[in-house]
Amino acid sequence: MAIPGPPPHGGALVDLRVEDGRAVAAAAQELPRWELTRRQRCDLELLATGGFSPLRTFLGRADHASVCTAMRLTTGELWPIPVTLDLPECVVAAASSAGGLTLCARGADLAVLWLREAWRPDRVAEAAAVFGTTDPAHPGVHTLLHETHPWYVSGPLAVLALPTHHDFRSLRHTPAELRRELADRGWDTVVAFQTRNPMHRAHQELTIRAARELGAHVLLHPVVGITKPGDVDPSVRVRCYRALLPTYPPGTVLLSVLPLAMRMAGPREALWHAIVRKNHGATHFIVGRDHAGPGPDSQGRPFYEPSEAQDLLRRHEDELGIGVVPFRQMVFVRELQRHVPEDEVPPGHHCLRISGTEQRRRLAQGEELPEWFTPPEVAAELRRAFPGRTGEAVALLS
Ligand code: ADP
Repeated sequence: MAIPGPPPHGGALVDLRVEDGRAVAAAAQELPRWELTRRQRCDLELLATGGFSPLRTFLGRADHASVCTAMRLTTGELWPIPVTLDLPECVVAAASSAGGLTLCARGADLAVLWLREAWRPDRVAEAAAVFGTTDPAHPGVHTLLHETHPWYVSGPLAVLALPTHHDFRSLRHTPAELRRELADRGWDTVVAFQTRNPMHRAHQELTIRAARELGAHVLLHPVVGITKPGDVDPSVRVRCYRALLPTYPPGTVLLSVLPLAMRMAGPREALWHAIVRKNHGATHFIVGRDHAGPGPDSQGRPFYEPSEAQDLLRRHEDELGIGVVPFRQMVFVRELQRHVPEDEVPPGHHCLRISGTEQRRRLAQGEELPEWFTPPEVAAELRRAFPGRTGEAVALLS
């Protein structure tokens, strides 16, 4: 059956789940087992369902080198982030003699990887290429250099089952399911919004403006896999997103959660996010200020320029196959009582914005959640989640 929606990255939506799993399940019993890390579980799920189309497995050595240096697979498609399976040496040795490895999660066999390649990557070079830095203050660099096993492996992947989730089940959609849902609703122009935070008013304004400018429906597509250390827990965030849905006109917005493991790679990450949303059926993608920014470096300076992600996506927009919707920094204008892009602020008007430092000051002084920054529906959920610590909830919104 034809897949509805725009063409996936590389032309076809990948699905690695085997139809009759008996032979693979039997092989899985005989092979050495590897309990996937959280990041690997997220990556496997998006590989399996085609969220990472055209990837059909964890990157092999040539593709890894090409992605690092040229942001492309060896077949030529844009691909900015290494999706790799890292293992300790003893597991690689066992998998090499057995010819493969069973990938497990919480005791369940999820997939078999037939081992074709194993190598020790230069992870410092990978960090420099992908993140543009080797500063361990960058959370992606820290993970790569200090929490990643020294070997990478690749080979054909056969998936028996997806990782199980007990939370937000009605909000989880594979790319094929989401494409069908959008088609059933008759939505042919869909603008996707990525976030890893409880949505605040600037976020809301980005989605409303994008929908209006494009005549589009909105796909709220927050990440519930792995985000930046210290972020608000997905269970709280999802309550915030749900609470916000009734503020949109009926039938204009869909909430779906994405099991992505973010790397906080700024511009490259934004390109990756756009590709993943294209695979899920979106026709457009919002990229705001400092998209997927990792916070300050060890000298307190930003790792990336605020518009670097937008610039990179614009340069590749024709080839990307998903419309890029860039936004300047949104600020709240007191006289207008609404958020506008900073370049649209009328002369002499006063802008309000909350910095991380200012939020922490409010926390220290126990001040109220400012309503111009946090919609009351979101504030109510945050208060419920952080009873007596509303200031902290504000600080976490940055
Ligand atoms: P992340 O980009 O890491 O997901 P957020 O959840 O804060 O972090 O951002 C979601 C999206 O909203 C991104 O595209 C980001 O660039 C954009 N964004 C966030 N705050 C603003 C703002 N004040 N002005 C313009 N864009 C913003």
